[in-house]
Amino acid sequence: MSAPVYERVALIGLGLIASSMFWAIKRGGLAGEVTGYARSEATRDTARRIGLCDRVCDSAAEAAEGADLVVLCVPVGAMGSVAEEIAPVLKPGATVSDVGSVKRSVINAVAPHLPDTVHFVPAHPLAGTEHSGPESGFAELYDNRWCILVPADETTDPEAVARLRALWEGMGANVDEMDADHHDLVLAVTSHAPHLIAYTMVGVADHLRRVTESEVIKYSAAGFRDFTRIAASDPTMWRDVFLNNKEATLDILGRFTEELFVLQRAIRMGDGDHLHEYFSRTRAIRRGIIEAGQDTEAPDFGRAAKKP
Ligand code: NAP
Repeated sequence: MSAPVYERVALIGLGLIASSMFWAIKRGGLAGEVTGYARSEATRDTARRIGLCDRVCDSAAEAAEGADLVVLCVPVGAMGSVAEEIAPVLKPGATVSDVGSVKRSVINAVAPHLPDTVHFVPAHPLAGTEHSGPESGFAELYDNRWCILVPADETTDPEAVARLRALWEGMGANVDEMDADHHDLVLAVTSHAPHLIAYTMVGVADHLRRVTESEVIKYSAAGFRDFTRIAASDPTMWRDVFLNNKEATLDILGRFTEELFVLQRAIRMGDGDHLHEYFSRTRAIRRGIIEAGQDTEAPDFGRAAKKP
């Protein structure tokens, strides 16, 4: 157990990311008290029933009042309105952070609402599953995963950044800092475009109705099965990601389409050398990810072992 990093932490939004934060904070003894708020009564009831948060509040403002750290854990498109709601009650000297998958648009939506008396340190944990809601979280989600801190500008208090870093490290994450635009481009390559491609591939199979009703499910092999896992991700979250990281995602998808045409042509022309050379390069990337400890060689990429 470490010493608490913050006396009071407020989690606004109680889904996968916030609930995993709560269990990881408890595991590490990283906060004196954690308050929480979710939009629907059903989620707040579930949170109370399973002991998610020390105190579940009936408004975001009530949860945020007096907190030393407030973390916005709602979909990217809802960050601005939540920030507006809590702004009047924020304790001077408090830190406001978020966990949104896109950073530039969240900064633009949140920063204008915050008083000068608080520190704004946006963050993005690169960890998740296709599950959502208050019961989907687990303490180990952030173990050995990256969390990117994106201080809004050069004037951000280094002490506030260091404390948030200590919290994420206490939750098991490795922490890096990055500029917002760079973050959005990197994530467009590593997460956003791959999700869109998975959604598309599953959509294509769905259009082949005859196949979907029988063989696609029955014979679903690793390739398609992995796509369906990704394509089962929360629709609201991902709608907001694409609407808020438009430019970078469209840039990467443009490049993707060009590469796809090149591979398509190689298949049509019977250019096996090209295909073999291409697949050898991509295989090396997979090896690099395993060597970096970001996935395992285990069947199903070790995911079964990580589930709660
Ligand atoms: P989630 O499981 O779907 O939970 C979202 C939570 O936000 C729920 O408690 C929901 O309340 C609340 N909420 C939704 N709309 C709201 C609104 N307009 N006002 C107030 N509360 C609202 O989502 P999540 O996976 O934890 O994602 C939360 C954030 O983390 C998102 O910004 C996402 O981009 C980011 N993120 C997600 C992942 C991932 O893999 N899932 C990874 C990294 C970062 P109700 O339950 O009452 O509807």
